[in-house]
Amino acid sequence: MVDASTGGKTGFNYAGVKNEIGCFYPPMDTLIDVFWLKTLPYEEILSGYAEMIKHALIADKDEYERLLGSEPMDDIERKVQASREIKERIVEQDPYETGSRKTLNFGHTVGHALEAHSLQKDTQKTPLRHGYAVMQGMVAELYLSVVKTGLNREILRQMSHYLVERYGRPVCGCSDYENLLTLMRSDKKNNRFGEINFTLLTDIGHPVINQVIPDSLVKEAMDYLFSL
Ligand SMILES: [Zn+2]
Repeated sequence: MVDASTGGKTGFNYAGVKNEIGCFYPPMDTLIDVFWLKTLPYEEILSGYAEMIKHALIADKDEYERLLGSEPMDDIERKVQASREIKERIVEQDPYETGSRKTLNFGHTVGHALEAHSLQKDTQKTPLRHGYAVMQGMVAELYLSVVKTGLNREILRQMSHYLVERYGRPVCGCSDYENLLTLMRSDKKNNRFGEINFTLLTDIGHPVINQVIPDSLVKEAMDYLFSL
């Protein structure tokens, strides 16, 4: 409702990489009824809520505070509408993701790697849900934002607390780092060979795209995430 419904991006996973093949094709119409959310398990609500928090982090401080300060299903119709509008505004400015649309990738460079890694490894149990991976990815990328682009550490602290409280402690061993970095490098968002490209924040509502981060600092961000 708040993500794939807007922007006309279609894609599927290929060779273990998320959304590797796809195209832009806008729908003729989209029908959204929040009634259906009541039929979902709570984990799926939280998974979608992570994308709503992402939209608020890159675009709207007041909405960020409203989302973190209320139960996910409270006032859900307005929240879904607000979230969709943020994405719509960003997509209208840059439909083919040549620039500002990349801000929507916040949390997803690390998030997609964690998700793909979990799909490779967890054949027995349920793989990490997309929104859970994005939530963890956002915390890692907020850490990078504190170090690289001067984000206020208080936002990192607040989101770390929210992650642990609502989504649970992230689990991953140091032995997985090389695979995670390989997955981040194979992400199609990286056009310069071998370098990992991030969208970071200088503040809530102020994203910056194309931030190249050295492996050593990405590992430091993962150390932070997995020490929570
Ligand atoms: Zn996503």
